[in-house]
Amino acid sequence: MLKVNKNYLNLPGSYLFSTIAKKVAAYKEANPDKVVISLGIGDVTQPLSPSVIKALHGAVDEMGDKETFKGYAPDLGYEFLRTAIMENDYKARGCDISADEIFVSDGAKSDSGNIQEIFDVSCRIAVCDPVYPVYVDSNVMAGRTGLYNESTGRFENVIYMPCTADNGFSPEFPGETPDLIYICSPNNPTGTAMGKDKLQEWVDYANNNHSVIIYDAAYEAYISEEGVPHSIYECDGARTCAIEIRSFSKNAGFTGVRLGFTVVPKDLKDSEGTALHGLWARRHGTKFNGAPYIQQKAGAAVYSPEGKAEIRALVSYYMENAKTIKDALADAGYTVYGGVNAPYIWLKTPDGMKSWDFFDRLLNDAALVGTPGSGFGPSGEGYFRLTAFGTHENTAEAVKRIKEISL
Ligand SMILES: *Cc1c(COP(=O)(O)O)cnc(C)c1O
Repeated sequence: MLKVNKNYLNLPGSYLFSTIAKKVAAYKEANPDKVVISLGIGDVTQPLSPSVIKALHGAVDEMGDKETFKGYAPDLGYEFLRTAIMENDYKARGCDISADEIFVSDGAKSDSGNIQEIFDVSCRIAVCDPVYPVYVDSNVMAGRTGLYNESTGRFENVIYMPCTADNGFSPEFPGETPDLIYICSPNNPTGTAMGKDKLQEWVDYANNNHSVIIYDAAYEAYISEEGVPHSIYECDGARTCAIEIRSFSKNAGFTGVRLGFTVVPKDLKDSEGTALHGLWARRHGTKFNGAPYIQQKAGAAVYSPEGKAEIRALVSYYMENAKTIKDALADAGYTVYGGVNAPYIWLKTPDGMKSWDFFDRLLNDAALVGTPGSGFGPSGEGYFRLTAFGTHENTAEAVKRIKEISL
């Protein structure tokens, strides 16, 4: 008897982005003369940098030459890229990670969604609230979350850790002990980052409770403050409790190129002593045929001296937008968070307005689009996300409009 995977039917609808699209379409129809600006985009807008383009061209030429043609890439990634990652992202920061603990992939979305496969269905997950939706949704598909409760906006078997202004958007240890703990820092959507001392407490907590932290560091390149760790492996003991996921999307603009990686240290074991590294290697070998050579060459170019300078310039470009938005909002009387170690600004809606009411207000009064905080989880209610991924021109125009709305 043909039956679908019923877990999929437990997924909450993609209400957030479809509702935004509908509201924007209706506004444009009613106001054809207005130019709508989006500060809601989660995609980059600047083109790939010269070193990356040069590496892409070079790799394409190699593929067209019978002496240098490449077929299937090694499952875990080419040595040249894994070594560059190991040297630059880990060794240079004093982290003890070897090249064969790095698994190159097509990006952080796949890895953060797939990593749960190597854990038993009985494992309890803990997530921040608000949260990047992939962590919960992929566990729903696996049947790990129980049923969705419409009235609370939560799954019955998921441990939610509210992150609000009251706790500085930093999760507190939950009452129940989770097996898997998802932490994203710098954070999407709140734009805030966890300090080293706090992350060390989480590492200690995970080691004491035999939990695994799945650390999404997709925004690592945006960290500007001292005391904010670039990798969880800067913390003592992280090799026995943490998996780290990284991406080339938000730093080098690879959203359309596709490249990322996941670190699974060999010291990471389950309660019976089974190493997770071998399981993830097996999973890669069975379900993934390697990131393309062309992309991996482009990724390696990001670590060249020119590449590093170009990536710093890209990040600065977006962070100038972040500052523009943050300063303008603060001037206009808003309470704002984030925008210092991440390209996201998380604002408190004025007068306790609901997130969706503020969305309507911004769209109708200023032709501006952002993302309602409540769309990322119940604790996001009363907050609103703006992104710094636009162009300077659009950002400047958006800021002008924000200042014209009276609070
Ligand atoms: C954008 C984003 C990703 C996705 O990265 P890709 O490498 O493009 O798949 C992962 N995690 C978070 C939190 C993100 O915001």
